[in-house]
Amino acid sequence: MHLDTPLVYVKGVGPYRAEMLEAKGLVTVNDLLHYPPFRYEDRSNLKTIQELAPGEMATVVVEVREVRMPKLGRKNVGLFEARFGDGSRLSLLGKWFHGGYLANVLLEGARVSIYGKVEFDPYKGDLFMMHPEFELLSADDEDGDAALHTGRVVPIYEAAGKVSPKLMRILTHRVLETIGPLEDVLPVALRERLKLVDRTTAVREIHFPSQDADLRLLNSFRSPAHIRMIVEEFFWLECGLELKRSKAKLEQGIGFALNEQVREKIKAMLPFKPTGAQKRVLGEIAKDMAEPHPMNRLVQGDVGSGKTLVAAEAAIIAIENGYQVAVLAPTEILAMQHYAYFKNLFEKLGYVVVPLAGSFKAKEKERIRGYVEQGLAHIVVGTHAILEQGVQFRNLGLAIVDEQHRFGVMQRLKLMEKGAVKPDVLVMTATPIPRTLALTMYGDLDTSVIDELPPGRKPVTTKHLPSSRIEEVWSFVAREIADGRQAYVVYPVIEESETAGLKAAEKSYLHLRDIVYPNYSVGLLHGKLPQADKEAVMAEFKAGRVHVLVATTVVEVGVDVPNATVMVIEQAERFGLAQLHQLRGRVGRGGNQSYCVLVTEKLSETGRERIRTMTESNDGFYIAEMDLRLRGPGEFFGTKQSGMPSLRFANIIRDRELLETARAEAVSFIQHPPDEDSLRRAVTYIRENWQRRYGLVQVG
Ligand code: ADP
Ligand code: MG
Repeated sequence: MHLDTPLVYVKGVGPYRAEMLEAKGLVTVNDLLHYPPFRYEDRSNLKTIQELAPGEMATVVVEVREVRMPKLGRKNVGLFEARFGDGSRLSLLGKWFHGGYLANVLLEGARVSIYGKVEFDPYKGDLFMMHPEFELLSADDEDGDAALHTGRVVPIYEAAGKVSPKLMRILTHRVLETIGPLEDVLPVALRERLKLVDRTTAVREIHFPSQDADLRLLNSFRSPAHIRMIVEEFFWLECGLELKRSKAKLEQGIGFALNEQVREKIKAMLPFKPTGAQKRVLGEIAKDMAEPHPMNRLVQGDVGSGKTLVAAEAAIIAIENGYQVAVLAPTEILAMQHYAYFKNLFEKLGYVVVPLAGSFKAKEKERIRGYVEQGLAHIVVGTHAILEQGVQFRNLGLAIVDEQHRFGVMQRLKLMEKGAVKPDVLVMTATPIPRTLALTMYGDLDTSVIDELPPGRKPVTTKHLPSSRIEEVWSFVAREIADGRQAYVVYPVIEESETAGLKAAEKSYLHLRDIVYPNYSVGLLHGKLPQADKEAVMAEFKAGRVHVLVATTVVEVGVDVPNATVMVIEQAERFGLAQLHQLRGRVGRGGNQSYCVLVTEKLSETGRERIRTMTESNDGFYIAEMDLRLRGPGEFFGTKQSGMPSLRFANIIRDRELLETARAEAVSFIQHPPDEDSLRRAVTYIRENWQRRYGLVQVG
């Protein structure tokens, strides 16, 4: 058997099971070795029933003698009981609440290994276990090896379809028995420095820990074997990313000149004094832009930190050098806002700014495409309609992508193919994530952080109220309006197709308009409205003529109305933390004290955590951390689109320190390899092993 032998050829697999394994990404023998148990059970305390002592955790190998579902009076309480024997004088009871399904599993005469806490019922004189773990020993034909499942620290795998945890164990064991020592490509110096165990030992220990292994370390994924595999996984990932970055740095790009003319124009454009953080980040961008290689920079900054202004400065650098600029936003509303913002800033510089979005009439699109193609437009602002085929730039120099998390990596690449020479790319996101994670998630991007808000901002005060107290919220909003301010009332529409949120927004709109605020102007904004209506209501709100804007999640990103001081979020429990924080960022943009009111109905435990996080903090980085923690990395990073490979051993949050270590090692290894040969070996290894299994990290 080889590492790349398809699992279908392993005894006991066959085409049916192979398919189920494949659904879990398990295709080859090597994949199976990279499918670690998610926990371990100490079944080394193997006893006979006679030897059992109340209070201890123990494993016994027994036979099912009798099963029943006892009733309490005349009521069936769903308790399932099995009496087990092993030839000794005593018997042992296993009890399961809601155990009805076991009637088809624990058949009389079946041999099972059961593991659990031994208890004693002095009234009935019974030894018993509540909800013990068990494994059928005789049911599987392939099995014959009870020693694999009992009398040792036993690995527990996640099932793959109908391939049970136990069969996983059998298959993995079978594979490990026939496979020779594993090649260890990890640089020797690294192994020695971090005192890592060798690969063969690590893989064997992870699946079948030796007798003296520390159960606690195993179950916290901190055994020497785990550490070795986690570091390895991170190391190759980071090497791949570093190779990609260093390669990109050598590519031919545009070197923009930073001359007096550029400085003059920037000065003429600036509506206010940039903050220190804005200046620093512009410096980092300008330095990248001056290099004759494509820039790939991510700017992270909390909502309202002034990312757009920095983007505008970068655009001036490109335009003054005779290039065009594309600005991409995830939604049409945001795109049109950016359009207005850039148009306003650039009008006095004499730049031609044009909008482009999917909803434009074909004729309109064609006209604008023409301007872009002929180089008559300096800057085009729009949605991904810009990425569509048919839009040709005369000379695209800079692409600005707002709100990265909505755009896939693929789209970014598509954008870069537009120009003859690769344009510089600037990505802006308001979903800050911890630095190391950013370096990994956006692996091929350099990052800048705007960690300062424009002066005079007062932190938004956040309150949480149950929906039963909504009237208090409406009176509060009325007082703010009387003071000349404006308010948002937002309803969740999580999925595009969802109509419940839309209906709720419409209903609330009518209620507020006709009953609560008959003397004020109430507007309605949602994604299903015709574009012209959306624009009209936004314009009215911006002009202060609409006092309360009832909206679905369309206002989530980017809306900028400094006079709005209240953000009421209905059914706040349905929003994720990042979204809540984004929404809150819509207020607190002017000099007045602003408020965010989170109105909730039923709260789950994590829902409560989310609300608490919001009421106690305004710090986007802290909130992102909590978000990551509450949701776990898989969901936080979203689908494959995020470009995050699915790791087998490592967990980007749990193992963050190991990630830092591995990253530092990888960077220094790629930049200063000990010798050409080890670098070549590493690159080959990544190409052959990593690319297929983890996808996405293409090393060229
Ligand atoms: P972001 O995109 O980071 O959420 P914006 O670029 O939309 O933030 O800026 C938020 C608000 O702050 C806008 O009204 C913008 O005009 C204003 N602003 C940006 N930079 C400054 C600054 N240096 N001083 C004062 N106001 C600023
Ligand atoms: Mg913005």
